[in-house]
Amino acid sequence: MSRKKIVAGNWKMNTSLQEAKNLVERITEQINEFDDIIKIIIPPFPYLEAVAGLLSNKANFYSGAQNCHTNPGGAFTGEVSANMLSSVGCNYVLIGHSERRQYFKEKDADFVLKIKEALKHNLHPVFCIGETIHERKTDNHFKIVTEQLTNVLNQFSLEEFSRFVLAYEPVWAIGTGETATSKQAQEMHAFIRSVVTDIYDSTIANNVSILYGGSCNAQNARELFACKDVDGGLIGGASLNADDFCKIIFSF
Ligand code: PEP
Repeated sequence: MSRKKIVAGNWKMNTSLQEAKNLVERITEQINEFDDIIKIIIPPFPYLEAVAGLLSNKANFYSGAQNCHTNPGGAFTGEVSANMLSSVGCNYVLIGHSERRQYFKEKDADFVLKIKEALKHNLHPVFCIGETIHERKTDNHFKIVTEQLTNVLNQFSLEEFSRFVLAYEPVWAIGTGETATSKQAQEMHAFIRSVVTDIYDSTIANNVSILYGGSCNAQNARELFACKDVDGGLIGGASLNADDFCKIIFSF
């Protein structure tokens, strides 16, 4: 993907089917179809097909999944494969979200397998990275983010990486109401580009979209999106309110 402005709404484990449909309708009716911002709606699995259907004729709107399995199929009760996501019209998939790392103990090796599956089925991985509060307070945030990136990206060619989106999500800012300052976000996003340059080259580092996530909302999005290396947001809580989500999209 070349560098694009992106706003993605991660609904997590929220909404009923009817609420999901209403939310999509209330978002899409407010958006000018001629803007060049990529909008990604990431509902719970059961609503993906319905949401993808509602978005299919909306310019620059795409659907995404919150996760996929490491395997292509088989006896993995309760899991969902990348192939299945693709077959219901899904375009993106979150990989490495901090909640998957924290609650489901997912590790770098899992992310590599999941991303390989995602790419095989034409999904864009939105690969999430970010440090905990302890790692930031002990001044280890650059080291941790470097490791998170290197351990996974080293397994992918430049061509494969060109299909990635990255999301910097400091764990201490997710769902806490505490947002990284624009200075902290810019500093880390520029650093991430430098790590990508070291792994691949500066052209691809300049082309990859890097989203900020962590209590981004209608009030702070403008300042965050004004940062040179912030290409948009991965939005949790505020994406469940159509007006707030649209205000975030209007913040570029
Ligand atoms: C997220 O879960 O990716 C996220 C950024 O959540 P919130 O916006 O609620 O902090």
